[in-house]
Amino acid sequence: MNIHEYQAKALLRDYGCPVSDGRIVLTANDAKTAAGELDGPLWVVKAQIHAGGRGKGSFKESEAGEKGGVRLAKSVEEAAEEANRMLGHTLVTHQTGPAGKQVNRIYIEDGSDITSEFYLALLVDRVTSRVSIVCSTEGGMDIEEVAASTPEKILSFSIDPAVGYQGFHGRRVAFALGLSGKQIRQCTNLLSNLYRMFVEKDMEMLEINPLIVTTDGDLKCLDCKAGFDGNALYRHPDIVGLRDETEEDPKELAASQHDLNYIALDGEIGCMVNGAGLAMATMDIIKLYGAEPANFLDVGGGATKEKVTEAFKIITSDPNVKGILVNIFGGIMRCDVIAEGVLAAVKEVGLQVPLVVRLEGTNVDLGKEIIANSGLNVIAADNLSDGAEKIVKAVKG
Ligand code: GDP
Ligand code: MG
Repeated sequence: MNIHEYQAKALLRDYGCPVSDGRIVLTANDAKTAAGELDGPLWVVKAQIHAGGRGKGSFKESEAGEKGGVRLAKSVEEAAEEANRMLGHTLVTHQTGPAGKQVNRIYIEDGSDITSEFYLALLVDRVTSRVSIVCSTEGGMDIEEVAASTPEKILSFSIDPAVGYQGFHGRRVAFALGLSGKQIRQCTNLLSNLYRMFVEKDMEMLEINPLIVTTDGDLKCLDCKAGFDGNALYRHPDIVGLRDETEEDPKELAASQHDLNYIALDGEIGCMVNGAGLAMATMDIIKLYGAEPANFLDVGGGATKEKVTEAFKIITSDPNVKGILVNIFGGIMRCDVIAEGVLAAVKEVGLQVPLVVRLEGTNVDLGKEIIANSGLNVIAADNLSDGAEKIVKAVKG
């Protein structure tokens, strides 16, 4: 789960990390008051969306102005004006995709004078199963670009969980970034606090880009992207409270509300499967027959008819879905329950695309009978490859 920059910065502040003073603005009327509460003489007006690259982004609507989603202002009035210009408009960045994201929240911050910009991130390294620190002198810009063209400018190392964060980790980062004097102590303190926050809050990633040195020579976190492990959210009601559902894929949101494991993908074949392993195998075999899955969906072992109906509705609400493959192995799950769920869903939402159903396991004959007697135009399949072949053929001809 991701949160907004302003929420991440409040968390950074709680953990003793240096951030600017700022105010969140939800409506145009509040912008001037919010900006007036900050000292100036420079204000930064920042669109809050769950995507990076806002500074270099652009708005779809011309009323929002020519500039991107991060704007500098020299007065309270100018700050309020820029905030009002952006609110309600759609910001497109290299991370949002061409559809962009509507800006519903603006963060107005006390502007900083910058001497240098660095990149700093903490993330979970899957190879070492440890928290990794990544830093670079090339901050403020696209880190992917730096990694591709000048990888030697990126330092990355992991922290042994048995000993945790140590001062030498921080000094390693400080020297790599060319810091000196008081900045070295600031850097070791910052990393110690970031590591503590990362571990205590079960984070997946914490990116500060840019980390800056101000003209006073102090380190400061100027931007922050924070992601949390969804499987650990039950331990963090405070983080769950920061969830902004308008930023999430509505299909994934509906799925999580019905306790379905669903991930939207780019392909054309919707899949309804029980069990993560079977779901992965089903996606693989769809690819093998020359098509792409539109989603990963595991309805779980003991799904009810209602849950199957919800799952079917979520799949059919995706306009990219040109065909559906239901692939169920009834172990704990009974095939007749699946069949009834599919029928109930089709009655409710209709069926505009070809549907292939492959059932195996408990009550399979009853399940097949229910589908056969339904009068629906369902293509029955006998096994996994037969099912994949049939749905790909039905979609691609
Ligand atoms: P992003 O484009 O979504 O990554 O948003 P950032 O928060 O990283 O802002 C983009 C850029 O705006 C930064 O790299 C800075 O160069 C600039 N910027 C952000 N805040 C300030 C500030 O307080 N003062 C100045 N001078 N520039 C800022
Ligand atoms: Mg940034």
